Amino acid sequence: MSMLQQQVAIVTGATSGIGRVIALALAKEGARIFVVSNEPQKIPETLAEIRQLSPESEAREVDVTSAAAVEEAIKAVQERYGRIDILVNNAGITQDNLLLRMGEEHWDRVMEVNLKSVYRLTRLVLRPMMKARYGRIVNISSVVALTGNPGQANYSASKAALLGFTKSVALEVASRQITANCVAPGFIETAMTAKLSPEVKQAMLSRIPLGTMGKPEDVAAAVLFLVSEAGRYVTGETLHVNGGMYMS
Ligand code: NAD
Repeated sequence: MSMLQQQVAIVTGATSGIGRVIALALAKEGARIFVVSNEPQKIPETLAEIRQLSPESEAREVDVTSAAAVEEAIKAVQERYGRIDILVNNAGITQDNLLLRMGEEHWDRVMEVNLKSVYRLTRLVLRPMMKARYGRIVNISSVVALTGNPGQANYSASKAALLGFTKSVALEVASRQITANCVAPGFIETAMTAKLSPEVKQAMLSRIPLGTMGKPEDVAAAVLFLVSEAGRYVTGETLHVNGGMYMS
């Protein structure tokens, strides 16, 4: 039997990059995926691909910065499946600038998408998970949460905040057999990193002991471990997937 047979997994930002590959990896193990995405044009193709692996999967256009939209989406998952086993908070953005030039709107937007949405979604899934006495929450942080990065004060602050948030939640719900962990990717080949200049990319590569950029599949493998039976005794942790760029 597949590892996640019959389980229900919500994955945010699942129509691009890392989120899409995480959704496919969980679907391959039999989980029914509820895709949360603010890219309506990409939903049909992504959902079709996921359904080839897990036919009962669904998708919905949701902006994770909208409390009402998020609440409706979680309600829809419960009505459709009657359970929520896994939440992967993957949606994230960058709005880079040196701090001196970083306007409040760029600070607020990054915090809203990368941090507040995680508070919002996690809170809503906890009730059904606590009732079921089972749950797996994985938050996608970043290596820059630990190292910092010039031009990313907002982004690295949002990703570092996830680490503290995750540990606190892990402590609050451990007695109900719910785990909460972070995965902190390093430099991964996606649209987010494609927009970097060749010089910046070269500089990043020179800091990676394993010598190459990571792939979304490397991040998905870490998520799969944490949500599967193999990861059942791991909680409040951060799993670094960065080619040695940062070692904790
Ligand atoms: P990406 O830009 O390819 O994907 C991000 C996804 O988030 C997209 O599907 C986007 O539509 C979605 N999203 C953004 N704002 C949203 C909103 N308001 N509502 C709903 N969805 C929204 O980027 P990626 O590289 O795949 O990044 C995925 C996650 O991994 C992010 O949290 C990112 O911070 C993190 N990360 C990426 C890297 C990397 O090198 N690519 C490194 C460390 C961490």
